[in-house]
Amino acid sequence: MDVLVLGTAAAEQWPSIYCRCDICCRVRRDGGRDVRTRSSLRIGERYQIDFGPDANWQMHRNGIDLFDLEHLFITHTHSDHFQFEEIVSKSHAIRANSKPLAVYMSVPAAEYLERILHTFDAQIEDEEDLAAWRRRFPVRALEYFRSFEIGELGVTTIKGSHLAEGMDQFSINYLIRLPDGRCLLYAVDTGYYQEEAWEYLRGKRVDILVMDCTFPTRRTEPRSFGHHTLASFLGTLERMREIGFIDGRTKVCATHFDIHQALPHGEMQALFDGSAVPVTVAYDGLAL
Ligand SMILES: [Zn+2]
Ligand SMILES: [Zn+2]
Repeated sequence: MDVLVLGTAAAEQWPSIYCRCDICCRVRRDGGRDVRTRSSLRIGERYQIDFGPDANWQMHRNGIDLFDLEHLFITHTHSDHFQFEEIVSKSHAIRANSKPLAVYMSVPAAEYLERILHTFDAQIEDEEDLAAWRRRFPVRALEYFRSFEIGELGVTTIKGSHLAEGMDQFSINYLIRLPDGRCLLYAVDTGYYQEEAWEYLRGKRVDILVMDCTFPTRRTEPRSFGHHTLASFLGTLERMREIGFIDGRTKVCATHFDIHQALPHGEMQALFDGSAVPVTVAYDGLAL
């Protein structure tokens, strides 16, 4: 099953659409790996993690579409990860797959969505139409630190160190067992884990780790909450190595970069090259 990095930007675009700073102008002029779209990950044809505002361009760029998508895992409801109107735009397709598109999210995220859903539902006046619409896009609320069998995947929900709208909406970092037995953790968005997450990771191991490093050039404390800095990212890798969660066979990728607190791709890769654990700076279109 192919795992494809669709986007690697944080909320701000690469280049940022309102910005003419030197960095944004250079990215606009030179393109390449520094053109980044908002973070998401495709797993095979039927699964995806997050659905941001760049989903349309991500499909064009990779020569794919969403026809076969059946299971959409949302990390949290920040707008760079979750565009509900775009998700349900499947209703406008003339020849779409007739299966439901299930949307998975944390319990607090689902409660938040339910509160704002009337702004979408309001467009559908008939009760039966509304019920049918909800059947086409069932929302499944997932508790933190639980495991589920979803389609061909084993899905475990790690509580991230990142808060979104509503009450205690911590992100979900998805720990996924692929049909070929490989395990991957998509740790976006997050910062340095809270102790309950460290306890939960003990005894587990991954083959692929894709992790938030939103602010590689920001100088802050090594255990930053919300997003990783370089120090926080490397400190997390070190502790993951100590507990055996990652090892020499784990492919580690950094992602979700903020354009104004990161570096061009080559310089950013050089920044990570001295680390004890080899790290690949992810880019849009990277296959894992
Ligand atoms: Zn984000
Ligand atoms: Zn976020």
